[in-house]
Amino acid sequence: MQLFQHYIDGEFSNGATQFESLDPATGKAWAIIPEAREEEVNRAVTAAHRAFNQGQWPKLTATQRGKLLYKLADWIEENAPYLAELETRDTGKIIRETASQIAYVADYYRYYAGCADKLEGAVLPIDKTDMQVWTKPQAVGVVAAIIPWNSQLFLSAVKIGPALAAGCTLVIKASEDGPAPLLELAKGFHAAGFPSGVVNIITGFGKTCGSVLTSHPDIDHIAFTGGPITAQQVIKNSANNLASLSLELGGKSPFIIFADADLDSAINAQIAAIFAASGQSCVAGSRLLLQSSIKEEFINRLKQKAETIKIGSPLDKSTEMGPLCTLRQRQYIEQMVSASINAGARLISGGFSLDKEGFYYAPSIIDCDNTEQAPCLTHELFGPVLSVQSFTDEADALGKANNSRYGLACGLFTQNLARAHRISAQIRSGIVWLNTYRAVSPIAPFGGFALSGHGREGGMAAVMDYTRSKTVWLNT
Ligand code: NAD
Repeated sequence: MQLFQHYIDGEFSNGATQFESLDPATGKAWAIIPEAREEEVNRAVTAAHRAFNQGQWPKLTATQRGKLLYKLADWIEENAPYLAELETRDTGKIIRETASQIAYVADYYRYYAGCADKLEGAVLPIDKTDMQVWTKPQAVGVVAAIIPWNSQLFLSAVKIGPALAAGCTLVIKASEDGPAPLLELAKGFHAAGFPSGVVNIITGFGKTCGSVLTSHPDIDHIAFTGGPITAQQVIKNSANNLASLSLELGGKSPFIIFADADLDSAINAQIAAIFAASGQSCVAGSRLLLQSSIKEEFINRLKQKAETIKIGSPLDKSTEMGPLCTLRQRQYIEQMVSASINAGARLISGGFSLDKEGFYYAPSIIDCDNTEQAPCLTHELFGPVLSVQSFTDEADALGKANNSRYGLACGLFTQNLARAHRISAQIRSGIVWLNTYRAVSPIAPFGGFALSGHGREGGMAAVMDYTRSKTVWLNT
């Protein structure tokens, strides 16, 4: 079995205790993972706190910090095939997806490398002749980054990149599910030459590691991505340190298709929106809203496509959908699908676990036109389950799309430009994709409304999130 380590204060260690990580494609243990508890969390925070206040890091110029990030991006690119394979092995996400995602993980680090020396202050035109006043953005301090299991390399990059560009130091908690690629990334920080303690990467369980980290008195900012219930716990923890928070939470994103849309393009986008990563994506387009006149034809075509998706080993390059990450997740989906059917929803396709080893679940489509109470319509399932509703006109589409406590993303397919503008203005979500889905860029902000959280990752604004403005008064 492969062994992974913690990275604390520039050193690799096995942890006082370890646990096994299961390969979701087989359900069998394949790696030994260190488990951080209170003592190790404290050590990591102490290292990050010391590195923020003393030693080389606070003496580096912003340009020098940027150069270290460029080196890290090069290391990621050089090791991309290995990192992609680790992520596939540990999470079950197919190799096609992990390989393509690694390429833009390196791009995100390069983008933030370039941001490091572009943080500007201002000289204020103050109404006093004997004073000069200026402001300067300053790094917020020690950051606790809490990462969910899906896309750990990407979801950590959108926190680590801007935090380091701003001059912060970090303790990163990889999720206990699928932590191997993020633990391995520590080698990249080490090779790039980041001073000891600037980046610390550990993993462990929510209560014994995540809670200790997010309530630690020396944490200044918490960057959390995960589910809303965990976020509530993290907010409570932060009462202990009054750390600022950015929250990237779940989603139940509508995917609206009007009869005038390019239906070939819409169908391909919908398939990818819900079945990529086996639906385990915060921006999964999990609520399909179809204009009534095209419902029957579209559903027939969608069903045919869903039933020919090639399911198999995530390491095989021809596989189109892999297993779910954990058995727990599959059991949750089984329960939610059966509760949806009990609530009056109609199964169109799938709705079962595959009869093979590993945590596979069939691509599933459920008609919810008979019920608004089906859990597959109201809850984030984080699995390959698409709920379908029909709508009559624009107002009906908007009403149904906004009928959710989440507000992360929305897909809209129409050839009517004025309608696209109207809906994108009124939809309650942080991201709207018009005639496309899931496009991302380091330059574009990413985040949600309501139960989907309130942080924004991506873009220069994310770097500013890791700073506080300092105002200096000079008596001349
Ligand atoms: P989760 O909330 O169960 O866990 C997230 C992280 O929080 C893990 O590292 C976990 O160990 C940690 N944690 C658990 N309890 C904690 C506690 N008491 N204190 C501190 N940390 C604690 O989420 P998950 O199942 O790993 O990921 C799926 C969720 O993440 C979904 O809701 C998904 O939509 C969301 N997500 C959001 C985004 C986004 O950018 N908006 C991206 C990816 C995933």
